Amino acid sequence: MKYISTRSKIKPINSAEAILQGLATDGGLFVPEKIPKVTIEEIGELQKKTYEQRAARLLGKYLTDYTEDELGECSELAYNWFDVTARVPIAVLIQDPKNPVAPVGNMELWHGPTSAFKDIALQMLPHLMRMALEKVGETKKILILVATSGDTGKAALAGFADVPQTKIMVFYPEDGVSKIQKLQMITQAGDNVNVTAVRGNFDDAQTGVKKIFGDKKIRSELEKLGVKLSSANSINWGRLVPQIVYYFSGYLELIQTNQIKLGDKINISVPTGNFGNILAAYYALRMGLPVKKLICASNMNNVLTEFFATGVYNRKREFFKTITPSMDILISSNLERLLYHESGGDFKQVNRYMTELNSLGKYKIDKPLKTRLDKIFHAEYVTEDETKDFIKRIYGSFKYLLDTHTAVSICALSKYRGKTKDLTPVLNAATASPYKFTSAVLTALEKPIDGLDDLAQLKLLNKVTNAKMPKNLAVLDAADILHKDVCDKDEMAQKVLEFAAK
Ligand SMILES: *Cc1c(COP(=O)(O)O)cnc(C)c1O
Repeated sequence: MKYISTRSKIKPINSAEAILQGLATDGGLFVPEKIPKVTIEEIGELQKKTYEQRAARLLGKYLTDYTEDELGECSELAYNWFDVTARVPIAVLIQDPKNPVAPVGNMELWHGPTSAFKDIALQMLPHLMRMALEKVGETKKILILVATSGDTGKAALAGFADVPQTKIMVFYPEDGVSKIQKLQMITQAGDNVNVTAVRGNFDDAQTGVKKIFGDKKIRSELEKLGVKLSSANSINWGRLVPQIVYYFSGYLELIQTNQIKLGDKINISVPTGNFGNILAAYYALRMGLPVKKLICASNMNNVLTEFFATGVYNRKREFFKTITPSMDILISSNLERLLYHESGGDFKQVNRYMTELNSLGKYKIDKPLKTRLDKIFHAEYVTEDETKDFIKRIYGSFKYLLDTHTAVSICALSKYRGKTKDLTPVLNAATASPYKFTSAVLTALEKPIDGLDDLAQLKLLNKVTNAKMPKNLAVLDAADILHKDVCDKDEMAQKVLEFAAK
C-alpha cells in the first residue's frame, strides 16, 4: 500500500515514510492509494482475537511495509498499559425503555494511561515511528515538539516516554491548563522527556513551537546534534490508523453482548473536533464494517453541522469556549481526507477548496460530492445546557456517568433518532473519563463546587457517584514533581537546543 497527497500528484511513498514526514510537501495530507477491504467472514474471525491481535491484523492492511510480527510487537507495547482487558469495553445503555431494540453501546475509549481516547493512537504512534526510522535507515533521533492546552501533551508524553531513538518536549502555558492537567504533565517520568511551562497563553506556546519548526538555523543546529524534529498531531497517518481498529472491536463487542448479529448494520456517533476520530469510523465503513450512518456531533462551535447541512464550510464565525474544550475547533483538518476520498481522488478539487478556505475563510463543495456525503453522514450540534442535562439524565436513569464530550454525542444521537426515527443500534465513541472534566460534570449533577480546587473536585465526584476513578488520576496527589522549568516565549528555541544536546 502506497501513500499519496490529497492536494497534488506526488510520488507515492511507503507508510513508514508517510509517518515520519507527517505532512506532504505540498501541504496536503497523506492518504492510502486505495482503501483496503475486509469481508464479513474476516470480521467474524477477529471475534476470537485479543484487541492487540485485532489491531495487528487490521493495521497490516494499511501498513504493508511493516511485517506482521512488527505490528504485533507495536500493539503489545502500546496496549499493555490499559487498565481493562477488553481495552475498549462497551457499556450498553438502553436509551429509550420503550425501544429496547435500539441499544447504545457506549464504547469506553478512555482506559489508557491518561484517561482520554487519544491514548489509543498516541500509545501506538511512537512504536510505529521508531520502526519507521529503522526501515528508512535513519540514524538520527526524532525530537517530538508539542504545544498543548492540556490533554494532548500528557497523552504524547505517556506514549513517547522511554521509547528508543525518540525524545519528547512539551510546552504548556504556565497558567493556561487545569491543575490536574499540569500535575499530569510535570510528574511524567522518563529519560527522554522534558516539560516546560511558558510564560504566556496557549497561542504563545503554539506560535513558539511553529516558529521553531520553520527556523532553518535551529534545524541545522539540531542536525549537528543528531536530532530531527517531528510532531505528533492528529494529521499524522500514524495517529489516525490505530483509531480504525476500535470501531471493528466495538462492533464485535456488540455481537458478544447479544445486541446485534454478525452482518447487522449499526450507526456510529462521534463527538467531533479535528475530524480524526469520525474519519477513522469512515475508513472502517469503507473497508466493509456494516455501518449505515455516521453521526457527527458538535458543540456550539458548529461549523461541521452547518457544513454537512449546507455544503458550505465557513470558519469565519464566533468562537465559543465550551465545557467540551477538545471540540472547540473551527478548522477540522482531517475533513480534507474525507473530501479527497469522496470526490473520487480529485486532488485538484480538494486543493481548490483548501486554497479558498485559506484565502476567503470558506468554501462550498459541489453537488455530486454533497450528495455522496449525505448518504453517509448526519450532523447535529448540542448546546451547553443540553450537554449538562444529558449527563444528569443518563446518570439518573442508569447510574452511568458520562464526560461532557461523550454527552454531546449521545445527545446528538438522540436528536438524530428523534428526527429520523432510525433506531439502528449505535456504537457511541466515549472519548474521555468523566474524571477529566470534574467541574462541568459536578455542575451537571447540581453539586456545588465553589472554592474546591481540581483535586478536591475529583474526590467529591468520587464520593457523590462512586464511579471508579482511573488509577492515574487517583495517584496524582502523591506523585513526585519532576519538571519545574519555566521560560519566556522567546527562550523556547534555546530550551529546545539545550534539551536536544542532553
Ligand atoms: C480530541 C478529543 C475529541 C475530538 O476528536 P477529533 O479526532 O479531534 O475529532 C473529542 N473528545 C475528546 C475528549 C478529545 O480529547
